[in-house]
Amino acid sequence: MNNPAEKLIDDLHWSADGCATLTGALYEWASRFDAHLSASAASYGAADYRFPSLIAAKSLAPIAYLRSFPHLATFVTSGRRDDAALHALAKDSGTAEQIDVTADRFDAVDHLLTPATCYHFYPLFAGQHIDAPLLLTARCQCFRRETHYVPLERQWCFEMREVVCIGDAGDIDEFVSNWSTAMESLAGTLGLFANWQTATDPFFDPQGDPKALAQIIEPSKQELCVPGGLAIGSVNKHRSFFGESYQIHCGAEPAQSACVAFGIERWLSAMVDVHGPDVATWPNPGEEQ
Ligand code: AMP
Ligand code: ZN
Repeated sequence: MNNPAEKLIDDLHWSADGCATLTGALYEWASRFDAHLSASAASYGAADYRFPSLIAAKSLAPIAYLRSFPHLATFVTSGRRDDAALHALAKDSGTAEQIDVTADRFDAVDHLLTPATCYHFYPLFAGQHIDAPLLLTARCQCFRRETHYVPLERQWCFEMREVVCIGDAGDIDEFVSNWSTAMESLAGTLGLFANWQTATDPFFDPQGDPKALAQIIEPSKQELCVPGGLAIGSVNKHRSFFGESYQIHCGAEPAQSACVAFGIERWLSAMVDVHGPDVATWPNPGEEQ
């Protein structure tokens, strides 16, 4: 049998469907990197969460996620709990490399694989009134269907650490200022050359609804990019879009929110580019050079 995963450098196996497997020193460095982000977030008082990979379509419905990003979504289904459907599934799909989901054997799709870590937070606080800013963090495996895949740079599934603030306008300005500085200086201490760029990601139906998620998120998105343009992280101010969508209030007003996102594999990619594939020679996050 052909091995579907190709070994690219030590500790990195890659399969062309956009999935990477890490082990050894590379995996350990990625874990230290994420632990450093989590500890930095904790030093600002952020609570750490562990989310499932699945997210309910109804959790994303208030922001009409699929109206803006249908091309990125990965949908989840399962075999219908019905003997005939399960027998047919077992017979036709047991050794198949592609499963025919059009056949009447599958449940309706009511879940997606998480497209971005922070989407888990807003439904958790839906309907709540807060009188102090919420500082939150989580790392989650995220899934985005892309037109092509490149190891560590553009994957179907990848790890995203986010730090999120929900509060009033002043809280959000302070949060964005602190975390823009923190992300940039972390890149500097790791020997990465990076600068801020306004995001220009294409999104589905750009002329669509002016109140749509993409129209709110994209114009205020700043990305920290390494030479060549690869974004290793982003800072996103949402104004009151999530607060209004999920009825989260801060005082008498809809809460404002912002998130900062670190794409873990992209930091690995940038480290390989600058320092080479031998992880033993890399600086460690949190250690001054
Ligand atoms: P975004 O929510 O688009 O700002 O994504 C947050 C971060 O996740 C980006 O800045 C990248 O570092 C990373 N990222 C986004 N898409 C991918 C992908 N397909 N593969 C790997 N990393 C990604
Ligand atoms: Zn986010």
